[in-house]
Amino acid sequence: NAEAADALAAVKDADRKHVFHSWSAQELIDPLAVAGAEGSYFWDYRGNRFLDFSSALVYTNIGYQHPKVTAAIQEQAAKLCTVAPGFAVDVRAEAARLIAERTPGDLDKIFFTNAGAEAVENAVRMARLHTGRPKVLSAYRSYHGATSTAINLTGDARRFGNDSATAGVVHFWGPFSYRSPFYSATEAEECERALRHLEDTIVFEGPQSIAAIILETVGGAPGVLVHPDGYLAGVRELCDRFGIVFILDEIMVGFGRTGKWFASEHWGVTPDLICFAKGVTSGYVPLGGVAISAAIAETFARRPYPGGLTYSGHVLACGAAVATINVMEEEGIVEQSARTGAELLGPGLRALAEKHPSVGEVRGLGTFWALELVRDPRTREPLVPYNASAADNAPMAEFGAACKKGGLWPLIAGNRIHVAPPCNIAPEDVAKGLAILDEALSVADAHMA
Ligand code: PLP
Repeated sequence: NAEAADALAAVKDADRKHVFHSWSAQELIDPLAVAGAEGSYFWDYRGNRFLDFSSALVYTNIGYQHPKVTAAIQEQAAKLCTVAPGFAVDVRAEAARLIAERTPGDLDKIFFTNAGAEAVENAVRMARLHTGRPKVLSAYRSYHGATSTAINLTGDARRFGNDSATAGVVHFWGPFSYRSPFYSATEAEECERALRHLEDTIVFEGPQSIAAIILETVGGAPGVLVHPDGYLAGVRELCDRFGIVFILDEIMVGFGRTGKWFASEHWGVTPDLICFAKGVTSGYVPLGGVAISAAIAETFARRPYPGGLTYSGHVLACGAAVATINVMEEEGIVEQSARTGAELLGPGLRALAEKHPSVGEVRGLGTFWALELVRDPRTREPLVPYNASAADNAPMAEFGAACKKGGLWPLIAGNRIHVAPPCNIAPEDVAKGLAILDEALSVADAHMA
């Protein structure tokens, strides 16, 4: 109708004139104008509805506009929107308590940030001050955020455009059986060789210079990389042996994404610091933070911590966290995520792989999966090259367009589609999403060698 057309024109016009978008050449993009969202869907001004298999940027773990959480945010806004970070406030204390109750081991103190990258910055700062050492080790296949330290810790190609200040960061290869950097034949071999490689890196860099090892508990942006059993425990052991702080980045995978509150629970491994963000509020209000072990908290018991943020523990964001965590608990959303993975998404995606030769591998857990699309399943040559130019990326762009045409919003990264719907997606929407993927994968099949 005419009203919607006018509204669309106004949004597009102001957006194009005044919004500077992330990660983009500003004149080469055409952002979809979103008119609204609810549950697992969002829609545009033309009435097209999209089943969101990306959970925005993998953070709407409870779906859009959960009525209990939007109500709690409104209530908190009416009561108290903000107060300086130095005060004790009921809702901030409650958010910290609810998070600390869910983190493993003695990670019982919470430093709040606005989002993920700041959590990483502060975790690294804590590790450096705690150990008195300068370097941090991180995996090539990783994403840790886009601030100065975080983007340099990031291993993937988004680091390239920022590669001016890598000082203090050393990258290593984590395990990845499907594209093994260690020529392993089994998961156990991959695990053992990856740990040996990490140990060698530590020894040759000099353990006395290494403050921390940071790892995504399950690699998110790099492709839903589920570490082989024993790897995280092995890294824990290396950190203990060499006096290195072990930081797990659970920013993408915490709060139900993998079917546990924190993904480290799958392997019973307790790091020294956990970074979180995204799912803690389902993104309704931005919030992140660091959960801190007793030993590291002790370092700052009588010595001031030299870091802080105007909005650390923002009251409205903490209100959103309390409501989100309570809703996830009451509605069994973490367990639902695990069940959806085991009973619907896992089997459904494996069935698609059987049918479509372009699917080289299916991996994941909970509501967090990836399909690795290849030109040839024997050689495992990716459907598009690493860090592909726009021209080389055409097969994935066509595949993505086919998903959208079918009504599914995909999360595409390199030669992969990541499947990350809300953790509480309804079974019928899983089925619908799988049917759309089934059609779209024929487009990928057509691009094979
Ligand atoms: N770490 C991981 C594992 C992430 O996935 C992300 C964001 O995608 C970040 C850090 C950065 O978080 P933010 O974008 O909130 O700064």
